[in-house]
Amino acid sequence: MAEQATALQLLDWYGRERRTLPWRSDNPDPYRVWLSEVLLQQTTVATVKPRYQKFLERWPDVLALAAASLDDVLHEWQGLGYYARARNLHACAQKVVGDHGGRFPDTEDGLITLPGIGDYTAAAIAAIAFGQDTAPVDGNIIRVISRLDAMDDKMPAGKQRVKVRVSELAPPGRAGDFAQAMMDLGAGICTPKNPKCDRCPWVSECRATKQDDPALFPRKAAKKERPTRYGVVFWLTDGDGRVHLRRRAEKGLLGGMMEFPSTDWLEAQEDDATVAGQAPLPTTVWHALDGEVAHTFTHFHLRLQVWTGQTGESRNLDNGVWVHPSDLGSHALPTVMKKVVAVIPL
Ligand code: SF4
Repeated sequence: MAEQATALQLLDWYGRERRTLPWRSDNPDPYRVWLSEVLLQQTTVATVKPRYQKFLERWPDVLALAAASLDDVLHEWQGLGYYARARNLHACAQKVVGDHGGRFPDTEDGLITLPGIGDYTAAAIAAIAFGQDTAPVDGNIIRVISRLDAMDDKMPAGKQRVKVRVSELAPPGRAGDFAQAMMDLGAGICTPKNPKCDRCPWVSECRATKQDDPALFPRKAAKKERPTRYGVVFWLTDGDGRVHLRRRAEKGLLGGMMEFPSTDWLEAQEDDATVAGQAPLPTTVWHALDGEVAHTFTHFHLRLQVWTGQTGESRNLDNGVWVHPSDLGSHALPTVMKKVVAVIPL
């Protein structure tokens, strides 16, 4: 009973205070719920809102998205980072159309078999779009629940306990609303710093508040240091001033994106002879630009030297194209490669 009362306090608050978001509806469309959830992975609501509208205008349903080219999807994705998500978005749409007749599976188990849909997203879509009694757990929900119970479990290892607790609390048939209520509470009230406990529907139940410093929760495991990797990127132009671009492998970091060729990114800088041996045309005379391009990925910092060179021949190199610098905007370049363009004296 206590659980039921706690849940209803939050759901009442949600009924009064919930955010108006373009993907929310009393009659949710699985395609829109899925699209919003994928866009929201690692990205803020404020950034996603206009991008979601653009995606929807361009590809209003899963059939349209499945029929799009991967390049178009990657291009529309620019600036949202983590490009594997864009590739998975496209692959998922194709699988829903190819294997499921254009309808998303309506269970957590079915959804999790699709590309780019992990535990959280499967549970969120099942709850929000299909009314299933699942327990999605994202960063907001971990924060809210770990504070409600003053959990000492270190995150992310303690995530399973949060999931169990959400399952206990969410009233049958209301898992979608309950999850969205916790997301709204985490976004606006139970914020990482300075939570507004005086406006929280759970203030009288919340154990973290009773202990006076809710910001101590969730407890976190110590972070590992991000290593630094080094490499050299080759800005190779032909006699017409066009630069050589190639496509990265589909799998892995920045998969399927276009890039200027580079050496491997290693934990120490290689010597010039080894670098030159990895250049796309070994006979070109290379000139190293002053300075470096620095970029940080999730798991490492990257420092790139930029070597420029010109070739008299513009034969097609493996998996590449020659592009005039003024046309680079029409290619799906990741941010790190845009930083390379920025240091080239054009
Ligand atoms: S009372 Fe404060 S810490 Fe507890 S859930 Fe509400 S906002 Fe978060």
